[in-house]
Formats: sequence, C-alpha cells, structure tokens
Amino acid sequence: MRDFGYLAAPDVATAVREIRPGAKFLGGGTNLVDLMREGIETPDTVIDISGLPLTGIDELPDGTVRIGALVRNSDLAAHPVLRARFPVLAQAVLMGASGQLRNMATVGGNLLQRTRCPYFYDGTLPCNKREPGSGCAALGGFNRMHAILGASEHCIATHPSDLCVALAALDAVVVVESVRGVRRIPLTGFHRLPGDTPHVETVLEADELITAVEVPPAPVAVNSRYRKVRDRASYAFALVSVAAALRVTGGRVEEVRLALGGVAARPWRATAAERALTGAPATEAEFRRAADEELAAATPRRDNGFKVELAARTITATLLRLATEGSPA
Ligand code: SF4
Repeated sequence: MRDFGYLAAPDVATAVREIRPGAKFLGGGTNLVDLMREGIETPDTVIDISGLPLTGIDELPDGTVRIGALVRNSDLAAHPVLRARFPVLAQAVLMGASGQLRNMATVGGNLLQRTRCPYFYDGTLPCNKREPGSGCAALGGFNRMHAILGASEHCIATHPSDLCVALAALDAVVVVESVRGVRRIPLTGFHRLPGDTPHVETVLEADELITAVEVPPAPVAVNSRYRKVRDRASYAFALVSVAAALRVTGGRVEEVRLALGGVAARPWRATAAERALTGAPATEAEFRRAADEELAAATPRRDNGFKVELAARTITATLLRLATEGSPA
C-alpha cells in the first residue's frame, strides 16, 4: 500500500471543502481499503467521514424516509419502520455480504462499491475500467458472472450491490452535497452504463459527498420481496437478483415495481416488464411473458447465457410468491 495523507472531517462542510482531485472519502472502508491494498485505488489523501452525523433514519412529514449516508447496513436491515414499510430493502441488505461486513458497510458506500469482475482486480490483465483504453479481458475470458443487459464492447461488468437493486425498485433519491450546494439524483440515474467510458461509473461529481438516500412513500412496497440467486447460500454476489413489489386488485396487477441485480453495470429497473404487467391478469403466464419482454434485449456472452432463463424464472417466481403469499414475515 502506498503512503497517503489522512484527515478526519469534523463536519460535512469541512469534508466537501477539503475534497479535491486525488483525495477520497472514507466511510466504512469495506471496499475502498481493499482496493487500496490491491493498488487499484491510490488516493493521495483519505478524508475520513465516519464521524459525521449522517447516521439517522427519519420519517419526513410527507412520508419519505431519509436514510443517512453513514447508516450501517446492519442498522438499516433492523430498522422497524423500514422493515414494515419497505421489506424488500431489509431483505436485500441481509442477503448481501457477511454479518461482519454489514456491521461496517454504509449506505453511501454501498452505492459506490465497485465491480467484482475478477479481471478488474488482476493488474496483469487489460481492463478498461481500471486502465482506460487497455482493453477488456472479460470479453474473451471467463464471463459467467458478467452482464447480459446494457453492456458494451468496452466493459461487461455488473454492479455488485443488493441494496441498490431494492432502492431502484423504490424510486429512491440520492442526496449529495458539495461546496455548490445540495443536489438530488434519482437512484435509477445514479449509475452509468459502461458505453466507451466504463471507468466513469456514476454521475457523482468528484467533489460531491453522498449525505443521504431518500425513499419516497410507496404503499405497494408493503408487499415486496427480494430474491437472490447465487452460487452459495451466503457471502456471495448475485448471479441474478430480483426486487419486486406488487399490488393485485380483482385478480389484475394494479401496481408493480421490478428491478434486477447481477445483470448489468447498474441496478436494472425493469420498466418494460412493469409496463407489460400493469393491468394484466396476475398469473404465472403473464409474469413470465413480462419477464421475457424485459429480457428480449439481453446479449449474453459465452459463459453467461444461462442468466437469461435464470432471470426470467426468478422474476416469475418472485411475482408469483408476492401474488400468492405476500411478503415474508
Ligand atoms: Fe474490466 Fe469491465 Fe472488462 Fe471486467 S468487464 S475486465 S471490469 S473492462
């Protein structure tokens, strides 16, 4: 690891005033420190924000829940208001990482975690995300874990977060702050698809600090689930995951929210499937038809073609369970 400067920010104003090119904010450190050890992130200064008062979970007068950027994942998953109003959120968090990591990892850091593409971590192989213009080892390599939606010939990596998939389904808003003031960014527009600049992963400016995530009222989310398919039962990234919320009235879908994880460089809001389902009979056949519509644009690679069928089945199964059993207790 290289030498770097360290500053413990006493408040948000100091943090955003001191940030500059070459510096990085440090929250829980569960991704950044790993990347620094590997030599992938090489900040000359680390601005420690872990002492900032961004740890609250508050219900606002309009029903929005504001989650501070430094709320630990384990605290988010245990929060009674979130569990009652947005069960999909708590489920998604509990299916991510390990207990120890969830005790350290923060909400803001979760949004900014970087891909787990193995070639990104291997400094001996080309990676456009690590070294722009060098190539993409995954294209001709082992790409079983990689993207089937929204990828490019420059990068086929996926975003690793579970929390972000649930937040995408819930129309969450990311609140960021800089010396220029406060900005609100819809979560579904926060992460960028790779295009020809896969190293630019979000629309966050280099001097902006995530201070909170806001989840607007969504009565449909009372009936919601997160389903994650992975190679082992815990501490594994998603092959495919589904965040879904469903309201059925008179046998028809009145409202549905659907987002996918493990399939793209950003949490994938399944808008085509949502459109296809709204007003349709709440049946297994219709759920499958909508899933196929969403996945019609999939472009699988040599080793990940199974994800298309897996995603269709996982969407169908998740919606069917919501229609028949509701949210898990
Ligand atoms: Fe790098 Fe993206 Fe290719 Fe992985 S998929 S090697 S992260 S450019």
